[in-house]
Amino acid sequence: METHIILVVASILLSGGCIGLAVVRLTNPFFKGAGWLGASFATGAAGAAVFTLRLGSAGNLAVLVAYILTLLAFVLLYVCFVVLSGSALHVPRLGTALVLLQVLAYLVFRNFHGLEQITVIVFSISVALQACENALLLKRTNPKGMDPPVWFTITLLLSLAAFNVARSLIVLLHGFHASPWSPNPLEATTAVVFLGAAIGVGFSVFWMEGHQMRLELEQLANIDPLTGIHNRRSFIALCEQELLKTSRSGEVFSLIMFDLDHFKQINDRYGHRIGDSVLCAVVEKLRNSVRNIDIVGRWGGEEFVALLPKADAEAAMIVAHRLRHHIDTIAVPSPRAHDSAVRQNVTVTVSIGVATYLGHDPNITIHDLLHECDSAMYQAKAEGRDCIVSLEPQLILVH
Ligand code: GH3
Ligand code: MG
Ligand code: MG
Repeated sequence: METHIILVVASILLSGGCIGLAVVRLTNPFFKGAGWLGASFATGAAGAAVFTLRLGSAGNLAVLVAYILTLLAFVLLYVCFVVLSGSALHVPRLGTALVLLQVLAYLVFRNFHGLEQITVIVFSISVALQACENALLLKRTNPKGMDPPVWFTITLLLSLAAFNVARSLIVLLHGFHASPWSPNPLEATTAVVFLGAAIGVGFSVFWMEGHQMRLELEQLANIDPLTGIHNRRSFIALCEQELLKTSRSGEVFSLIMFDLDHFKQINDRYGHRIGDSVLCAVVEKLRNSVRNIDIVGRWGGEEFVALLPKADAEAAMIVAHRLRHHIDTIAVPSPRAHDSAVRQNVTVTVSIGVATYLGHDPNITIHDLLHECDSAMYQAKAEGRDCIVSLEPQLILVH
């Protein structure tokens, strides 16, 4: 197919994409990168349109403008990725240097017959470098969450970079015969690859953003914002899964529920901010007291829970002991105690209830078990606080 037809199609598609992204930008405040991606599409569309104007020479001014617009499209994509990652906006140094290099190559080589193709090589290498920087930025800003959409985008960008390196080698070895009005396999392939890359990038930015939004919503729905552990809803859902699993396999598991003793007094005396620090310190101790496979959650206010898979009553009592011992070591500094000018360390104790699922009662629900655990905890309160109570298989009380 003649290159100019592909370029016209690319220009129309990218302009349409740009309008669509502008609408998304104006109507959906949650899609952070839409504006910059739209700007990238707009410059890409303009680049493709200007390419159709060139008159057969690689040293033509129209080519320079088209190259710079296309390069800018990749630089704007870089800015879009910066915005998506939540980092602070900054001047894209590599992109700026590559644009200047392109202008320099044009000024130097436009008058040398036979050397105009160097501007083509400079363009291809510049696109390859910018695509690599974009891919590196994605890798750097997603150090642990290398999810499928991020992998897809990185692969796409690196493939585009590889194509551009190959293109520059072909131009270097075979020269550049540019006439967009006549069939030219390398030119036509380049136009198709760039159009495909633009569509792929547009798709992958939506995919990445959608994926990110889903993770953020899951986080909001399941995680307690103060302590960063599961909230009650998500903890119960995980307990239900565990009960289903163990009722099939006949294994046991245990639950621990504990409440901070006289926590209201801590708030009243030192203020809510110190109260919050105590809650976070308690969660840190809770995390350090359980195994990796255990799940911890905030039941509400100053009450916490732990699910201990495969732990019988004895193992759960050992964890409860460890937890109580660790919480005894909490000493949150309080520089502004309401009734004292001297620095004080805030300490706290807990009342702990333990319940164990013995793996042979098909009718028991997770709410029954949690209720049993709650009763054990209130029994611990009634016994004078700062102690552990397990009601089943027989009442055990540890002060
Ligand atoms: P008890 O030993 O009987 O459990 O006494 P308590 O004072 O701990 O119990 P009470 O239910 O009277 O008070 C719980 C307090 O926990 C009251 C509430 O203000 C405080 N609280 C609940 N959630 C938070 C929170 O997120 N941050 C802070 N700082 N305080 C909280
Ligand atoms: Mg309490
Ligand atoms: Mg309470």
